[in-house]
Amino acid sequence: METVADGLIGAIGGTRLIRLKRASAATGCEILGKAEFLNPGGSVKDRAGLAIIRDAVESGRLKPGGIIVEGTAGNTGIGLTLVANALGYKCIIVMPETQSREKIDFLRMIGADLRLVPAKPFKDPENYVHVSRRLAEELGAVWANQFDNLANREGHRLTTGAEIWEQTGGKVDAFTCACGTGGTLAGVSLALKARNPGVKIVLADPEGSGLYGWVKNGDLTVSGSSITEGIGQSRVPGNLEGVKIDDAVRIPDPEALEQVFDLLSHEGLSVGGSAGINVAAAIRVARDMGPGHTIVTVLCDGGARYQSKLFNPEFLRSKNLPVPAWM
Ligand code: PMP
Repeated sequence: METVADGLIGAIGGTRLIRLKRASAATGCEILGKAEFLNPGGSVKDRAGLAIIRDAVESGRLKPGGIIVEGTAGNTGIGLTLVANALGYKCIIVMPETQSREKIDFLRMIGADLRLVPAKPFKDPENYVHVSRRLAEELGAVWANQFDNLANREGHRLTTGAEIWEQTGGKVDAFTCACGTGGTLAGVSLALKARNPGVKIVLADPEGSGLYGWVKNGDLTVSGSSITEGIGQSRVPGNLEGVKIDDAVRIPDPEALEQVFDLLSHEGLSVGGSAGINVAAAIRVARDMGPGHTIVTVLCDGGARYQSKLFNPEFLRSKNLPVPAWM
C-alpha cells in the first residue's frame, strides 16, 4: 500500500483486516473484518462509486462536467458524490426517505443534489431505482445503475477480493457478506474462487429479503422485516448473476444488533447494522466449520451513520428490539 495517497481516489480501498477478538475467541476460528468504514466516505460503497464512474468515463458515457444520477440507500450516493467532486462531475441522488437522518445530512453537506422519495417496493414504478433511471433518461445524464452495472462487482473483484487474498496470504476458508447490489459479495466471490475454488462464500441475509430463499432453493419469497439499511433484496440484482454462492444464513435483527453493540462496547469498533449481520453470519459459519478456520467478513460502514436509529434507545424500543444495559 502507498504511504501517500494521490488525492481522494488514491485513498479509497486498501482497508485493514481487523481480527474480531470476541468472535474469534468464542469460535476458535480467526474471524477477520474488512474495515470498510475506514474509506474516505465512510463505507464500502466508495469502491463501487469509483468503479462505476471510472467505467462510465472509460466507455465515453461520462464527459467532463457531466451528471451522474443514482438511486441509493445513501452510501453509494456518498461515494459517487465524493468521487464526482474530486473528478469534476455532478451527482443527483434519489433516496428513500426512510434512510437514516445522518446519511441524508451528510449527502447534503457534501453537495449532492438530493431527491428524497417515499419508500416503495421494486415492482412499483415510483420505487427510487426507477425514479432515478427515468430522471437520468430525461436529463440525458449517466445512470449509475449500481444493481445491474457489472462495473460494480468488477471493482470489488479487482480491489476488495484481491486485497482479502493478499492480506490473508491465501489463508481464507470462508467469506460472509450481505447483499444490497451484490457488488461486494459477487466481486469477492469471483476473486477468491478464481484463486481457490474451495473458499466457501456465504450470503448473510436480513429478515425481509428474498435472497436467502433464492440461494437455498431458488424461491425469492419475502417475509419479515429488518431495521438494517442498504441490504436485502426482493429480486436478484444483475451483479449476482452467474456468481457462485455456496450457502446462505438468515440473521434476525436482535442477533445482528448483539454484534453491533458487543463490537462497540468490548472492542471499541463502531459499525452499522449490515456489519452486525455480516459478523453474526461469520460466527454461525465458524461454528459450522469448527475451530481452526479463517473467516473473513465486511464491516461495511460505521455506527455514527445510525446514531438516531441503532444507537437510540427510543428507536430500539419502538421496534421492540432489546436496548443494551450500557445504553
Ligand atoms: N451495507 C451498507 C451499509 C450498504 O450501504 C450497502 C450498500 N447499499 C451494503 C452493505 C451492501 O453492499 P453491496 O451493494 O455491495 O451489496
